[in-house]
Formats: sequence, structure tokens, C-alpha cells
Amino acid sequence: MPTQLQSRAQPPTFGGGTGAHIALEGVSRTYSARNGAEVQALAEVSLRAGAGELLAVVGPSGCGKSTLLELLCRLQSPDRGSISCPPAVLMPQHDLLLPWLSALDNAALALRIAGAKRAQARARAEGLFVELGLAGFQHARPHELSGGMRQRVAFLRTLLSGKPVLCLDEPFGALDAITRAEMQEWLAGTLAGEPRTVVLVTHDVEEAILLADSVVVLSPRPGRVVAQLEVELARPRRRTDGDVIALRERALAILATGSQS
Ligand code: ADP
Repeated sequence: MPTQLQSRAQPPTFGGGTGAHIALEGVSRTYSARNGAEVQALAEVSLRAGAGELLAVVGPSGCGKSTLLELLCRLQSPDRGSISCPPAVLMPQHDLLLPWLSALDNAALALRIAGAKRAQARARAEGLFVELGLAGFQHARPHELSGGMRQRVAFLRTLLSGKPVLCLDEPFGALDAITRAEMQEWLAGTLAGEPRTVVLVTHDVEEAILLADSVVVLSPRPGRVVAQLEVELARPRRRTDGDVIALRERALAILATGSQS
């Protein structure tokens, strides 16, 4: 059965009618450090993503990936350039689950903050627990969960925010290789059932190719877009597929040389 992710929804028009769901034009961001020095994180970044697409952003450490997500979520403003993006929610690198709340109440937190009554919020969260592979863990405290399970709860909380755009910052960065592979499969399956526009920051090029519709490669700091690769491969994708390997090698070469040639 085709998923909504595969049969892309028509993007709405907004913010000047660009036709894209997310559009950045010439975005730059410079931080002023305490000692007065300036650190330019992003330089002239332009990129686009359609509704329901998963856009992966890869690049070396410190090239402005987290800054990019914070800009999309309006937690910061660009110094230059324009950003068109529907309401977006950030899932930060660390899960930030509250240790004194159950998994269910942690997942329901976004709904509670938005004003939902406790029983209502719990009922909505509980409905997705089975779908997200969390059945039976409703009453567990975060310290009783594995790293992968904690990320599932954190993702569910992000999903329940109801925002159309999810910004995921290295969601599987702290997981071991086997759990990471399981979680990549899980995320692809979850998004097939609960489609959203997703911007996924990862340092793992293979993860980007396995999951994304499009991969933006950033240069070392200040992050500039070196390439935006379309990943027009059928799903589900396997890391051993020839096409996946070829695209991974291409993206790695672009990362290593900083150019497309
Ligand atoms: P990435 O996520 O790719 O590792 P970041 O967006 O976190 O990169 O950071 C980009 C650069 O900006 C880094 O050099 C980082 O040290 C610097 N930076 C990030 N936040 C701040 C800040 N609040 N003040 C000063 N420099 C910052």
C-alpha cells in the first residue's frame, strides 16, 4: 500500500508563494562570543523541502547544523536572508525526558503544555504507544528504559506537539550500531503511518540516504550548502542496496572534497 510519504502531498503555498513547504534563501548566522570574537555558523544557506518530505542535513561537527534547526523552530533569528517554514518543533540531541514522570506522561507533556486535560492527553499518547513499539512501557520511568526506547518516547512527545514540521537533531547519535539500525527502520515505518515534514540532522551519511528524500551537504564552518542531493530510491531501502551504496559514496566524496566535482 503506498504511504503518504511516498505519494507526496501537494505543498501549500505560503510566505511569498515559493511553492516549497520549507524554503531558506541566503541565510547567515553569526554568534558573538563573550570575548567579543565572532563565530559565523552559517553562510548564505539556501535550501528547499516539500510537504511530507524528509530532508537530511549532513556536515562536519560545528558547521551549523543545530543552528539551522533552531532557526527553523524560530528559537533564533538569521542575521541575513529569509526563512519560510510552517510551525516546527525541535527534538534536541538529548531526550530531556523528565525523570519523575512515567513514559506515558513524558510523551503526553506537549499536549499538557498546550492545555489538554491530563486524561485526554494520556489517552492520545496511549493510542500511539502500540504503534510506536512502546506497548507495555506506559508506566516505566525514563531510567528503566533503554536508549532506543527513550528516543521513541521523546519522538512521540515531539509528534504529539501537532506541529507540521519536526526538526530532529542527531536523534540516534548516542545509540549503539544495532539499536541505531533498528531505530532508523522504526522511524521510516513511523513516518509512513504518521507523515510529517522532517528535517533530520545527522553526521551519518548512510542514515541520511536510507531515510531522506533529499540530502543537504554542508561545508565545514561556516556551513554553506555544497550540494542538495535528491534520493529517488524506492522504500524500504537497505544499506546493502547498490544504489544506496553508490549515493552514500557520492555524498561522502562531496563531504570530503567540499565540492560536487
Ligand atoms: P553543529 O550542530 O553542526 O555541530 P552548531 O550549530 O552547534 O554546529 O554550532 C556551529 C558553530 O557555532 C560552532 O562553532 C559552535 O561552537 C558555535 N556556536 C553555537 N552556538 C553558539 C553560541 N550560542 N555562542 C557562540 N557560538 C556558538
